[in-house]
Amino acid sequence: MRSKKVDKVKVRQAVQLLLEGLGVDLENEHFRHTPERAAKAWVDELCSGLGEKKFSLTTFQVGEKYEPSMVVLQHIPVRSVCAHHLLPFYGQATVAYIPDQRLCGLSKLSRIVDYFSRRPQVQEELTSDIANFICDQLSPQGAGVIVKATHLCMAMRGVSHDGVMTTSSLKGSFLRESNVRAEFMSLANTQSLNKL
Ligand SMILES: [Zn+2]
Repeated sequence: MRSKKVDKVKVRQAVQLLLEGLGVDLENEHFRHTPERAAKAWVDELCSGLGEKKFSLTTFQVGEKYEPSMVVLQHIPVRSVCAHHLLPFYGQATVAYIPDQRLCGLSKLSRIVDYFSRRPQVQEELTSDIANFICDQLSPQGAGVIVKATHLCMAMRGVSHDGVMTTSSLKGSFLRESNVRAEFMSLANTQSLNKL
């Protein structure tokens, strides 16, 4: 999903209208600067992935002796906002790929998740956006992404249940080869180091 144009003034006006619509006293000292403060948070942080600057990935050629094997990064924080209610969803992602000719720094996998998280969206599309971006940038043999998240739109309204939603996106050999998929699933389910 692409943004047409980010307009912080409109966002500030919208927050003000929201508060007025809710009957909140804007003269109260806690709310007096809320429209500006909230607009800054929405534009500069929660939705910074909608801005003009496009995220680009620095990649490296694999060495001649390198035999491609699976690279997995777990426990990547996910903080996003749902498209349907504009309420946060948060959790963790596991991102993996098997390089072909190009590698990227491990921290970049975390950056990719952060970049695509910072916009209103549905979790299913976030998951496939991350996988597609890795495929576009690295042309790997395959890639896999799993996102597990709790949605406040489900926890604070409707069924009031804070279950965990899991979505996955598999590409290339992760989709075609059952042994690759099984390796990914087993690595994705390992505990973090401090829990081993
Ligand atoms: Zn929602």
